[in-house]
Amino acid sequence: MAKGNIGVTSDNIFPVIKKFLYSDHEIFLRELISNAVDATQKLKTLSSVGEVKGDLGDTRVRVTINKEKKTLTVSDHGIGMTAEEVDKFINQIAFSGAEEFVNKYKDRTEAIIGHFGLGFYSAFMVSKKVEIFSLSYQEDAKAVHWSCEGNPEYTMEETIKAERGTDVVLHIDDEFSQYLEDATIEGLLKKYCKFLPVEIAFGKKKEWKDGKEVELDEENIINDINPAWTRKPADLKDEDYDKFYHELYPMQMDEPLFHIHLNVDYPFNLTGILYFPKIKSNLDVHRNKIQLYCNQVYVTDEVENIVPEYLTLLHGVIDSPDIPLNVSRSYLQSDNNVKKISGYITKKVADKLAEMFKNDRENFVSKWDDIKMFIQFGMLTDEKFYEKAKDFALLKNLNGDYFTLEEYKDKVRENQVDKDGNMVILYTQDADANYTYIERAKAKGYDVLLQDGELDVHCMSQAEQKNEKLRFVRVDSDTIENLIKKEETAKDTYSDEQKEGLRKAFEGLLPSDADKLRYYVTCEAAAADALPVFLTQNEFMRRMKEMAAHQQGMSFYGQMPDQYNLVVNTNHPLIQELVGKETSEEVQEEVEKDGKKETVVKTVYSLANEDERIKQLIDIALLASGQLKGEALAKFVNRSVELL
Ligand code: ADP
Repeated sequence: MAKGNIGVTSDNIFPVIKKFLYSDHEIFLRELISNAVDATQKLKTLSSVGEVKGDLGDTRVRVTINKEKKTLTVSDHGIGMTAEEVDKFINQIAFSGAEEFVNKYKDRTEAIIGHFGLGFYSAFMVSKKVEIFSLSYQEDAKAVHWSCEGNPEYTMEETIKAERGTDVVLHIDDEFSQYLEDATIEGLLKKYCKFLPVEIAFGKKKEWKDGKEVELDEENIINDINPAWTRKPADLKDEDYDKFYHELYPMQMDEPLFHIHLNVDYPFNLTGILYFPKIKSNLDVHRNKIQLYCNQVYVTDEVENIVPEYLTLLHGVIDSPDIPLNVSRSYLQSDNNVKKISGYITKKVADKLAEMFKNDRENFVSKWDDIKMFIQFGMLTDEKFYEKAKDFALLKNLNGDYFTLEEYKDKVRENQVDKDGNMVILYTQDADANYTYIERAKAKGYDVLLQDGELDVHCMSQAEQKNEKLRFVRVDSDTIENLIKKEETAKDTYSDEQKEGLRKAFEGLLPSDADKLRYYVTCEAAAADALPVFLTQNEFMRRMKEMAAHQQGMSFYGQMPDQYNLVVNTNHPLIQELVGKETSEEVQEEVEKDGKKETVVKTVYSLANEDERIKQLIDIALLASGQLKGEALAKFVNRSVELL
């Protein structure tokens, strides 16, 4: 029996393994199975080039639990190792440079895992003793038994092993007894090994028979060795893609909308399938995530630094051996391969959408509402994506017709350009709430868009920045005459003093809740058939408030009270009647003129005895905008009855 010290100068490596890797200890299983799969694939390669003769026989990797002995074993029939190889690969190589590294990165667990392919040694995270039994494929090889108890000493001796390959036996630490439970191990295998290229067997298949679960003779195979993304797109039908989607997300009920098969081998290697899910609300967004694989081994579903953020809304798989897996997150973003990969995926996704839009617009339109949030998110956060997406991003009007922005500009060019040459696009976020305003816009021959998506406000602001002389305004943000000012609108004949009297009369009777809600009264000569009094809401302020809800650093706007203009329509007969009832009074007022005080005579108008009528008019305006509620509504109803 040979005894020796593992080739690392520090005695501290085992405590480090246990301590620093504690949070991620379950990866030991992935590491051991990856080694077993590698060894099996190497054997297949050698066989294919004639270096290994004859039938390879059984090549399944098996995971077994022995509850009595408290062991977990990973067995393969791969190339195996000779004693020299165990010495080289296990005793020395794995720890080369470990001490230096550990000292340098003590605080960075994730970096430690990667550096020296901690692979095999991760077994010590959960074991008090690890044994290797291995028989190399090489002719006349002698089997070797290696054993180590979690300190830098190991033993190595010749042994008898009937079959080619390697068994790694883990004597599980008492504190990790969960790894002796079938359910835990099966769960981990399903997580990490579901799509490995060599069959992984764990126990026997089970079946429900007469209300009991019975074991069959057949082995329970964990994985699909030819997952869809590794196959050629030409060999796959839509059903195959859908089936794979559900393999990937067994709990997902909805079908994906469509998919993109990724396949590139230069300048980096990447395969995968991305699915566009139906995103119903923000809540759905992060339930299922894109899974990252490296040669069919599951790595993570945190791909935030590998694909642009908006693409994390997609589902599916990315498999690339060229993504550095064990570096810090911040390093990832600056890695050149990762940048190229991210750029490639962006381009593929944009091209696929452009192609769908071009070749089958009807289908694209039918899916628009479901993919809109994703595309808008992309346009807002990725300039390159914006450049492509602006040609297929759609706007929907109240008739349910869809347009690209360019198409829509053509549609409204004739009628919706104001006297200063600005194109004004009208929209509503709620067609019911804005009903009267929409009717007035339609009467003028204007078109109205429905912009009720969560990101619409942001996208409108973006479109305004990118398109000169283009403005979006909500139909209720001003009088229809002011929304799209054509020529100087007709003026009323009242003096400013008369209007001031009117304004004050209304102002005095407005509901007040200054912290949350503020009304400003303005007198305007709107159309005679418009309402006598109505509310508008300034586009800019409202939009800033809406954007503040989604964006950090805008809380200033978020905290402002809601503001409305109460427009008193001086062209309306009812208002004209009120003006007619104003009484005037001459008052003397002191003003400063050229530094000297002067007394001037002013006419002040006021309205008396009209409070009931004014209240009624205010309430009508509030009611028309859905703002009359509770007690105020009841009072309005009673007052209306009395007036009748
Ligand atoms: P890595 O897999 O990153 O190289 P490991 O520490 O996991 O690092 O393994 C070190 C080496 O030991 C492997 O490269 C391989 O040559 C050898 N090895 C490990 N497990 C097996 C196995 N099951 N069969 C054959 N060789 C193995």
